[in-house]
Amino acid sequence: MTMLIMTDQGLYCPAGNFFIDPSRAVENAVITHAHSDHARRGSRKYFTVDKGVSLLKARIGQNITVQSFKYGEAFFINQVKISFHSAGHILGSSQVRLEHEGLVWVASGDYKREPDPTCAPFEIVKCDVFVTEATFGAPSFKWPKEKNLGAEIYEWWCANAELGMNSVLFAYSLGKAQRVLGVLHPYASRPVYCHPSVTTLNECYRDEGVALADTFCLSQLHPQKKLQGELFLVPQSFLKTDQARVIGDHYQTAFASGWMAPGSSGYGRGNFDHGFVMSDHADWNDLVQTVQETGAKKIYVQHRGKGALVRHLKNLGLQAFPDSDLFPKNPSQLMLF
Ligand SMILES: [Zn+2]
Ligand SMILES: [Zn+2]
Repeated sequence: MTMLIMTDQGLYCPAGNFFIDPSRAVENAVITHAHSDHARRGSRKYFTVDKGVSLLKARIGQNITVQSFKYGEAFFINQVKISFHSAGHILGSSQVRLEHEGLVWVASGDYKREPDPTCAPFEIVKCDVFVTEATFGAPSFKWPKEKNLGAEIYEWWCANAELGMNSVLFAYSLGKAQRVLGVLHPYASRPVYCHPSVTTLNECYRDEGVALADTFCLSQLHPQKKLQGELFLVPQSFLKTDQARVIGDHYQTAFASGWMAPGSSGYGRGNFDHGFVMSDHADWNDLVQTVQETGAKKIYVQHRGKGALVRHLKNLGLQAFPDSDLFPKNPSQLMLF
């Protein structure tokens, strides 16, 4: 019997009767992290790592029933031994290690290998079967390493301020925005103006002891107020809102994303005045290296199952498959529990 099978609701473990990051409400939901494509409302019971609980509640409701565990702490759901291991993606992000009848599977969730001051570093977990994400699973995706994003963003902010311009930095409200504030923490001497969707989540990070640059919530500004030379950390939709009046007409924009890297769809498009290559996902080399370091003989690839990573891993002599191969050939497998 296979440890995990693919279903319409996502990855399911028949021996344990639980789902990992189910796409719909289920009985038992094991959650890798609080991003909306992984954590959804309505499940009867949630299991996640302790550092991710406040983010999970902020995203899907304070009244959820959630059982939490430290990284590396083992627990059982039915017959299956489970533990969470850091994925280095955002605060409280986990890989899920599953052990049953002597076999070890790891489902990676989203992960990255680059250092990030706002979350624990990625942990290599040895396993027999590795289910890996591959959001950037093509050889053209290579993040420039060894750079100082905090200094880079701060210099951009200062240069704009000297010209009397505001700096508007677009970033996803959960994870990316806090990483920007984390890398800016040693540099920023003035508060960063944050969109309310960012501010709420900042508090979850601070409550977990993560050092972020000082922030000021845009919702607390007088509607007629005009600012100059400041940094705004907001979602992309911000410029179309009434609140955007505060930045006036003189500003520069930038986007912090892996899609700003050469070879990515956002590169050179001219939608932004500037781009910071900042990804929460592993690039091509890190994906390949991670798969090898787990020691897994069998690999299932999510998100880009038909693409270059499966082919490349096969060339390396590994058994690699798209995650669609986890759909049971015999539907009676679904009835095992
Ligand atoms: Zn994510
Ligand atoms: Zn994701």
